[in-house]
Amino acid sequence: MRILLIEDDHLLGEGLARALGQSGHACDHLTHGRGAMAALAATPYDLVILDLGLPDGDGIDLLAQMRRQSVTLPVIILSARDGLQDRIRGLDVGGDDYLAKPFALGELEARIRALARRKPASPGLYTFGSLELDPGARSVSCNGEELDLTARELAVLELLIRHAGKVVSKQRFFEALYDWHAKANPSAIEVHVSRLRRKLEHADAGVGIRMLRGLGYRLELVDRE
Ligand code: CA
Repeated sequence: MRILLIEDDHLLGEGLARALGQSGHACDHLTHGRGAMAALAATPYDLVILDLGLPDGDGIDLLAQMRRQSVTLPVIILSARDGLQDRIRGLDVGGDDYLAKPFALGELEARIRALARRKPASPGLYTFGSLELDPGARSVSCNGEELDLTARELAVLELLIRHAGKVVSKQRFFEALYDWHAKANPSAIEVHVSRLRRKLEHADAGVGIRMLRGLGYRLELVDRE
C-alpha cells in the first residue's frame, strides 16, 4: 500500500517508514501537518497514519480538514494521548483506528491489514483467469495453489489485476511501489515484472504480462497450447 505517515518524531517516523517499506508498503514521511493536504492531492495514497501532537497544529484539526475536503482514505491515529475521551474524539472526527503510543510494530501492521480488507476499493478477492488475489491476506493463488511472490511482485500483480484489460503505465507502478526517497531505477519495475512473468509461466497460470513499448504493461489471458 502507498502510505502517508505524518509524525514529527524523526526517529520514530523514519523507523516506521523503513519498517513498513520492508513489509512491502511504500511509505512517505512528513514531520509537519503542513504539506499533508498537498501530498494527498498529488499522490494516490491508500492509507494515512497520523500523529496528533504535531509542531504546527493538532492532528485532529488536520483530520477534520481532510474529511471536510472529502479525503475518504482510511486514517490510523497514532498518539501518546491514550485517554478514552481522546480516542472517542479521534474516531468521531473521522479516524478509522486509534493506536496509543507506545505500540508494537506488529500491531500497527495487523491494523493496516485489517483496514486494507475493509477498504471499499478492494472488495474481497480479485480474480483474473486462474488467478485469485486476496488484498487483505496479501496472497495470490493459481488454480487453488498459493504462489510464492515477493511483496513487490504481489504489488505489481495487484495493480495489473485491479486494472485488468487496461494498460498500466510505468509511472503508475512507481507511484504504487516506491516512496519519494526511493532511489529506484526505472528498470527495477522491469525486473519485478519479468520475475513475476516467470512465476506465472512456471505455475502454468494461463495469464501473461504484455509490455506495450512506451505505454506500460497489461495483464492478458494467454493460450496454453
Ligand atoms: Ca508528536
